[in-house]
Amino acid sequence: MNNALVLFSGGQDSTTCLAWALSRFDHVETIGFDYGQRHRIELDVRPTVLAGLRKIADWGSKLGDDHMIDLAVLGQISQTALTQNVAIAMQDNGLPNTFVPGRNLIFMNFSAAVAYRRGIKNIITGVCETDFSGYPDCRDDTMKAVQIALNLGTESRFVIHTPLMWIDKAQTWELAEELGQTALVDLIREDTHTCYNGDRTHSHDWGFGCGTCPACELRAQGYARFIAD
Ligand code: ZN
Repeated sequence: MNNALVLFSGGQDSTTCLAWALSRFDHVETIGFDYGQRHRIELDVRPTVLAGLRKIADWGSKLGDDHMIDLAVLGQISQTALTQNVAIAMQDNGLPNTFVPGRNLIFMNFSAAVAYRRGIKNIITGVCETDFSGYPDCRDDTMKAVQIALNLGTESRFVIHTPLMWIDKAQTWELAEELGQTALVDLIREDTHTCYNGDRTHSHDWGFGCGTCPACELRAQGYARFIAD
């Protein structure tokens, strides 16, 4: 049962989580979700990132199937800046309108269903409490509750791993360097995508992106601190 399923979006965080899993488990599969996100370019870079990871260390022999799940219905029921053509803004409840209600809960349910079918014990997600916008479905308590609910609801012993939960973006870059040295840092810089606006025309030392959306700002600031250390 030394196997894992990684929620892999094609962004910096999930790519780092995938590398983390490849350095620990014998067999690793990936799962991605198409929910009508405006930054669909994230989905387009996934195969490139997977191909790049296969060339690092012995990861090529460990990396198994990629499962792409169509969750268009999630885009249809949510009105957010990630799924509709509206500007990113703070809402009255203190959460930015990039928050897609229930998104991670739904992702975890579908991941468990695939893991169940594939006989996989470990599920890895790049959620993080430290650095992000306070999304309640990214919190440690939420993930612990999800693990219990999934195990009760499927009579299984899934283990949910959240390697980024307590580290910031600079430490995420450091973790990538530790796991896959320069090759992985370069792959993340050049081929992963994080920008909310789906911009891959502007090139920066930290990768492609508009440079001004909250996701770009976090990535850029984290990279600057990583380089300075
Ligand atoms: Zn951006």
